Amino acid sequence: MTTVPLEAPTRRTAGAGLRGVATADVDRHDRLALMRTGELGSVHSWELVTAVDGPGTRMTLFVSGCPLRCAYCHNPDTMAMKDGDPVLASEILDRVRRYLPVFRATGGGLTLSGGEILMQPAFAGRLLHGAKEMGVHTALDTSGYLGANATDAMLADTDLVLLDVKSGDPETYRAVTGRELAPTLTFGRRLAETTDCEVWIRFVLVPGLTDDQRNVERVAAYAASLNRRRAGTVTRVEVLPFHQMGRDKWASLGMEYSLEDTEPPTPEAVEAVREQFRAQGLTTY
Ligand code: SF4
Repeated sequence: MTTVPLEAPTRRTAGAGLRGVATADVDRHDRLALMRTGELGSVHSWELVTAVDGPGTRMTLFVSGCPLRCAYCHNPDTMAMKDGDPVLASEILDRVRRYLPVFRATGGGLTLSGGEILMQPAFAGRLLHGAKEMGVHTALDTSGYLGANATDAMLADTDLVLLDVKSGDPETYRAVTGRELAPTLTFGRRLAETTDCEVWIRFVLVPGLTDDQRNVERVAAYAASLNRRRAGTVTRVEVLPFHQMGRDKWASLGMEYSLEDTEPPTPEAVEAVREQFRAQGLTTY
């Protein structure tokens, strides 16, 4: 596998749309039935990217629906599942097939992102399995909050998990996301103990929200603990500086945005946090 180092990872906004991917013409009843079997998903957009969301050139699929309400969410337009477009799994897999030469040449593949991909586990399972049958590298980009929805079969079809650990301290996690931290930690331990998945930990550094030194320390200690459970589980930690790229989306959705006045962290602050991870023996970008 070719791994492209990310010198300056950033949080990205979701893709521009469904360009070339057909939406399914189904009524509400059929839509729900097909979603249960995973033949249909609620999709926001997709994008072809290089050196983000996993190794090589990737097709990243952004699905709709997320149980978290992150204060810094850069894709608030993906939060509601009902706002997504109905797309057949076979339609996505056709698109993956088209890019096989690119994936092979670059060591890339398919990344399932959102929103929260584990809100649609049957759809995710079909895509992962279909991609694996084509020999394509697969990645799940998830908060881990719904990790219990991931079946063992799904994880056997997953090469890489981009695990967003939004905070190490449960109270801060609640303040950031409105939900509990524990399911994410449990999911990461399961990945280390019962799967062969490679894990990249992602941590968004938000001044005044997640940047408390003890909070960072807990994320770093947790990431290191996964490598004690299975050596080589966490191969990379990405410290992503908060940015204001999602601000306009919040405004256009009429949603209240609490980080209006928050500045991005300084390069020095980002580097200091990366040092905290390095001190735990982790490879950090
Ligand atoms: S996990 Fe948080 S940042 Fe990601 S889509 Fe959901 S609310 Fe937004």
